[in-house]
Amino acid sequence: MIPFYKLQRYEGNAALFELVMMSIVSSYVGEPLHLHAEGLRGTGKTTIMRAAKGILPNITRIKGCIYNCDPEDPHCPHHKGMTEEEINRIGVEEIPMPFLEISHSAKVGTVVGSIDLAKLTDPARPEASMLPGLIPQAHRGILFVDEINRLADTSPEITDILLDVMGNKPGHIQIEEAGLPVVDIPVNVSIWAASNPDEDPGPLEEIRRQLSDRFDMVCYMGRPDSVDILAQMLEENSHRHKIKRNQEKRSQAENEAKDNEYRQKVIKWANTYNNTDLPDFLRNFIARLYIKHNIESIRAIEAMQQGAVLHSVISNRDKVMINDVTSMIPLVLKHRIDGDTLIRMVNDVESRGAREGILNFRGKKNKEKESEPEYFQHNARSLKDMSRNELVNTEKDLTPGEY
Ligand SMILES: [Zn+2]
Repeated sequence: MIPFYKLQRYEGNAALFELVMMSIVSSYVGEPLHLHAEGLRGTGKTTIMRAAKGILPNITRIKGCIYNCDPEDPHCPHHKGMTEEEINRIGVEEIPMPFLEISHSAKVGTVVGSIDLAKLTDPARPEASMLPGLIPQAHRGILFVDEINRLADTSPEITDILLDVMGNKPGHIQIEEAGLPVVDIPVNVSIWAASNPDEDPGPLEEIRRQLSDRFDMVCYMGRPDSVDILAQMLEENSHRHKIKRNQEKRSQAENEAKDNEYRQKVIKWANTYNNTDLPDFLRNFIARLYIKHNIESIRAIEAMQQGAVLHSVISNRDKVMINDVTSMIPLVLKHRIDGDTLIRMVNDVESRGAREGILNFRGKKNKEKESEPEYFQHNARSLKDMSRNELVNTEKDLTPGEY
């Protein structure tokens, strides 16, 4: 697998790189950020998401706890309610932030949990207990689902479970097994999903709208369109198989050093995130967008707020700016409102918000009526034909070279 830092960045995948970093920072501080990358095969969405496993920072858990209990706030059936002293006696350990994957053919038992057969059949001390599945084991980390549209189509039970996990922050999960008490535990997991909306069974929002809405952000992947980038990608691919072992070893050390740089960045950004809040005027701006454009989904504006702060943090700023909010608009709304409304909104924000400045936008309140017809003059092209740069202004434009 190509290490995260070596993956080619280009306009069409820049948003996903940002979202992945934002979600890692957010997960690290205990606030999940659910991402869905949609795009054609070969756009690299799953490669980027899986490669991110290599840059995840460590978390501290109660020693040996398969549920990843935070020593400060134990939640699992074994450690919940324990005193500090009792936890100190067990000890703590550092593990890499979990990154687990469920396939679209996964069984409920694997995902949620099942009876622990090893313990049940232990001749010395047979005991009935639960073995937590992938979701509880991914607590405080990432759970990746490729082909989420197929999963939603073929496995309504697992879809319902994901709805519970993603319903609130933290979500929760119920582990049930006949003859054993039901275990209901909180889970803080960021769900990362990928799908190709052009392949069977179609876009997730058409298969299970509710599940689609649970994703804070949806990112549409563009294909690389520059000859240089494609040529570099080809070179990397052919290279991988040809380099000698020594070189491999040397590059492994280099890879680890680079991964570690990301890890340190995540920890630094997480600290900044804990101390950064959205200024009131931007919160009002989001609230006004919600009302003016009749958005309906509260999750959407919550995601806009969380995303704007995270975006400012990974841009190495400690203040959130208007562009942090506007750059979130297509990501949080594309899967939640119809295309016309979105384009109207983006044009509205672009012309009044970003270009003329937020103060001006606020002052326009009284003139809303007379400026209304102007919206409809921009609607000639559908959103999917527009590049991200046309839709949003990112801070990256202002600080090139951070990535
Ligand atoms: Zn525990």
